[in-house]
Amino acid sequence: MTNTSMTSTSMRTHQCGELRPEHIGQTVSLTGWVGRRREHGDKLAFVDLRDHTGITQCVINDDVDVRSEYVLQVKGVVRARPDGTVNSALPTGEIEVGECEVTILRKATPPPFPIDARADDVDENIRLQYRYLDLRRERMQKNLRIRSAVNAATRTAMERQGFVEVETPMLVPSTPEGAREFLVPARKEPGSFYALPQSPQLFKQLLMVGGVDRYYQIARCLRDEDLRADRQYEFMQLDMEMSFVGQDDVIDAVSEAVLDAAEAVTGERPDPIERITWLDAMNRFGVDKPDLRFGMELSELTDVFAGTEFKAFSSAGSIKGIKVDGAAGEYGRNQLDKLTGRAKQVGAKGLVWLKCTDEGFDSPVAKFLSDGEVAAIKETMGAATGDLILIVADEWATTCEVLGTLRNDLGRPPVHEGPYRYVWVVEFPLFIGFTDDGRPKSGHHPFTMPHPDDVDKFDTDPMSVRSIAYDLVLNGWELGSGSIRIHEPELQRKVFTALGITPEEADKKFGFFLNPFEYGAPPHGGFAFGLDRLVAILAGEDNIREVIAFPKTQSGTDPMTNSPVPGDPKAVADLGLRLIPQVD
Ligand code: ASP
Repeated sequence: MTNTSMTSTSMRTHQCGELRPEHIGQTVSLTGWVGRRREHGDKLAFVDLRDHTGITQCVINDDVDVRSEYVLQVKGVVRARPDGTVNSALPTGEIEVGECEVTILRKATPPPFPIDARADDVDENIRLQYRYLDLRRERMQKNLRIRSAVNAATRTAMERQGFVEVETPMLVPSTPEGAREFLVPARKEPGSFYALPQSPQLFKQLLMVGGVDRYYQIARCLRDEDLRADRQYEFMQLDMEMSFVGQDDVIDAVSEAVLDAAEAVTGERPDPIERITWLDAMNRFGVDKPDLRFGMELSELTDVFAGTEFKAFSSAGSIKGIKVDGAAGEYGRNQLDKLTGRAKQVGAKGLVWLKCTDEGFDSPVAKFLSDGEVAAIKETMGAATGDLILIVADEWATTCEVLGTLRNDLGRPPVHEGPYRYVWVVEFPLFIGFTDDGRPKSGHHPFTMPHPDDVDKFDTDPMSVRSIAYDLVLNGWELGSGSIRIHEPELQRKVFTALGITPEEADKKFGFFLNPFEYGAPPHGGFAFGLDRLVAILAGEDNIREVIAFPKTQSGTDPMTNSPVPGDPKAVADLGLRLIPQVD
């Protein structure tokens, strides 16, 4: 047993969560904040002294004026709590510190909310306005420490695998990730702007041209997109790139880092991460980020209705269904109407519901279904009496999206409920959807390598070209994406053409990036995963704001610093800018 703890300083021997019966008899010094104070009688008071490690009960003279959140140094002797007063819920609950000499290091204004779990119910804007007080709480301290453990384990895993940490600039030209960028006016070149990096994408690829071989960075990335529970303007990524590799090499290196990070937090190493193709993920779960913690997979019913008389089904390109076990009784007309409304909101023309009974189906469309169709639905979906079946008939992408959304709505467990289900989604399409002016859009980004088996489909059927792009998904959250990159200029030109980017445009936008490739670019690929999201899930939080020390609110503001604030007119003018009145 040591007399002092690892974090002892000239002001303290131990921290507030450390003392145990083995310390009884020792004279100790603690520092921290006053949590609760209770009068004891006999001219004594109990004070809970708190720091991030926990609390220790200190017995002090009641004439010492210490109040909530005062900052103290307490010197005293560790002793056993009297019989009957042991608190087994508290790690330090068997001891207390007596004969206390109290030094008030700093008085404190009463805090606007209690510094404990009760603050969970306080309006988030108030918590963020007083974030420095919110951070004193156990939940926030735990989250910040989980974050630190994830960062440390990730770094160690990358270093162990021979990756080199390289910092890339924050003032960059536009990068092609496709999100809206933050622009920074260049004072010395009025009218010109830097962008803040959406990711280090271009630079990390140039590091490969530069022979770095294996790069990583815990990188801050910025995207000016509407904020959500899993999205902030600024976020942190483990960004990496490696040379002379194929997809499996990248997946293995990233898996190692993610599994190490998870193990560092949970104490358990997750199983090796499974893989699913994008097409399978869509067909089975309706989304490209499947939550594998629950079943309710989509059933393929298109063939079942190949010769159907039922009009709503006969012309549809794709028919799929999901089954909610035993839910037929729970869903009244009102709820079914709500589900239909939700399906329409996501893009369906309608939603067919069927309640399984001993006789067949109870449903407004039952009369349109043949006996053969009823039997085939039941068999394909493994339906039993009491189950509720939901069917969507539409074009394939819509069928998937609607049922994928309903599956998540109806079945997805809360984020803090285990188990952790990691999955690699591979073979993303090279192009997903079209821009407003009808050009195909990159599924990942324009430098992603097409699948070698699909290159000849570029001109005939570009939308069916797969790519060597992969996502890592955890419990239905997209943790990150990556791809093998194009390193041959001819192929790059072909992809640009398919994207509707002319050679002149490509040269203007990406010339500084593509010309270096002419000097001998190695085959390379990489990945980036969001640390905020990984930490949030490992911490059981469903909002990444809870794992970020100083996040922005949903509307992009910071109630603590009041940012953003109007620009000082002189500073704005110095940048060569003139503000125009805002019209709504
Ligand atoms: N830059 C990509 C992203 O941030 C990741 C990658 O392709 O490495 O999503």
